Amino acid sequence: MKSLRLRVFPDPVLREETLDVSEFGEDLKDLVAEMVRLMRENDGVGLAAPQAGVLQRIAVVLYEEKLHVLINPVLLSSEGEQEGEECCLSFPGIFGNVRRPHRITVRHRDLEGNEHDTTVESFLARAFMHEMDHLNGRLLIDHFSPMKRTMARKKLLRERQAEG
Ligand code: ZN
Repeated sequence: MKSLRLRVFPDPVLREETLDVSEFGEDLKDLVAEMVRLMRENDGVGLAAPQAGVLQRIAVVLYEEKLHVLINPVLLSSEGEQEGEECCLSFPGIFGNVRRPHRITVRHRDLEGNEHDTTVESFLARAFMHEMDHLNGRLLIDHFSPMKRTMARKKLLRERQAEG
């Protein structure tokens, strides 16, 4: 398959609607492998398909050498609360505090199409929620206060213009 490139704000694809994966075959495996390559190449811990320009409900998270592949993820339950700093490959140089649940259970499929309920907490709960946000067109800056959001948007637009 052709190699994918990282989409950076304000690329409109980051806001578009994503569709459930319905075919579990070699094409899906190739796509996920390409997403993992893109994530590693950019030193990310997570990547959602829209960040690679693909409008499907797929996310990958790499944490402590373990790769989590979430296909068609749905949040089943959440408990507790945590607040911490997040960044995003689609928002280079932007950081901000985001409030997330402490523990979540997500129903999702794997590369073979098998269904799993996965419970994670702390960092992984934060990473899963961040990537699942992407599948709903929700971005890091949407969690910021209006003032911080405006500042982040301006900074990125200015940098994009400087790059020409
Ligand atoms: Zn992100």
